[in-house]
Amino acid sequence: MQALMQSINAKHSFKQLILNRLLIVSLILICVTSMHAEKPVVARSPQPVAARSATAAPAGAPSPGTFRRYSPTTETALPASYPYIAPQKMRFSGNGLQIDLFAKHFSQGEPVYIEVIRLPGREAAAEAPVVSFEGKPIRMNQFSWGWRGMFALAPTVAAPAWKKISATYGGKTEDYKLFVQKTNFPVFRTVMTIPALSNQSEITKPDNTAFIQRCHEKKQLVFARISQDTLSNRVAFPRDMYRVTSPFNAKRIYERFQVQGKKKVALPSQFHFHNGLDMYARWGDPIFAMADGVAVIAENMFYEGGFTALDHGNGIFTLYMHQTKLLIKEGQLVRAGDLIGQAGATGAANGSHLHVSLFVGGVPLDPMGLLSLPIRN
Ligand SMILES: [Zn+2]
Repeated sequence: MQALMQSINAKHSFKQLILNRLLIVSLILICVTSMHAEKPVVARSPQPVAARSATAAPAGAPSPGTFRRYSPTTETALPASYPYIAPQKMRFSGNGLQIDLFAKHFSQGEPVYIEVIRLPGREAAAEAPVVSFEGKPIRMNQFSWGWRGMFALAPTVAAPAWKKISATYGGKTEDYKLFVQKTNFPVFRTVMTIPALSNQSEITKPDNTAFIQRCHEKKQLVFARISQDTLSNRVAFPRDMYRVTSPFNAKRIYERFQVQGKKKVALPSQFHFHNGLDMYARWGDPIFAMADGVAVIAENMFYEGGFTALDHGNGIFTLYMHQTKLLIKEGQLVRAGDLIGQAGATGAANGSHLHVSLFVGGVPLDPMGLLSLPIRN
């Protein structure tokens, strides 16, 4: 997952360069080091599994909110502190197809949900339509009503600008244009000290480099997989309250130093783009699955701390970091709104919080964008 980290650094010795490469690819961000692994405990959520209509969690059980139909197709659980944001919509028709696109905003860093249906009279065409964004085919799955999929408006995509959507169907290709807005991602100039990122003497200890390498290899393996679409028409907020402590794709600067004897020797600081969103959470606060999926990582990692990654299929993943307790196991199927863990400050964290990430096709996106998408079964 090359796009996991974008990072630039000034001068390096060769050793530093190698270590930084490790950090760049494997890393996901922020803050302390409590390297001790919590044993995952299996616990199913109190959310009713078969529920299809608006349901509330049992009284007293932690919950992201009540599932409600904010759109005709989707049930969304949101805490009172996060009001539903209706998506922007674009429709293209032609060549026997109707293509609907939805996004919280058609702007940098947002996921786009796509539905494709055959127009009346063209149902008989044998082949599935192929729709691409800027020349890259979008992974879609077929349902009784048509096809659905998701693609990324990368934080780095040139914007504001018109982008090309191409649809090939019945042997013909038609092009459409989608206008993508620029997002003003914040830039923080205060240099942050985060032990697991800043103290190079700690990171370069053989035990730690070996652990970082093992974590890196696991992530490479897991995030390269393209599995079956497990999304449903339910999405949920990852916490029971909304307060952002560090926004998505913020540019942040980290102190870097070495310890020589008892002396702290400064190294050039390093900047990263924050590839997720940090939410306020005290130790032990509940963390919920944002969508239906399979846990493909549920273990302690160097930077991520107590780390859960959910695979939603088609290259869509949500990631939850720095947890003090993991409540689901690798391989476990979860539904949107299921309790999956408890917040902490493990890994590279400078205080308890939830770092939540959304990746679509290896591209980091604002995870809140998922909550506006009218996903249909
Ligand atoms: Zn973070």
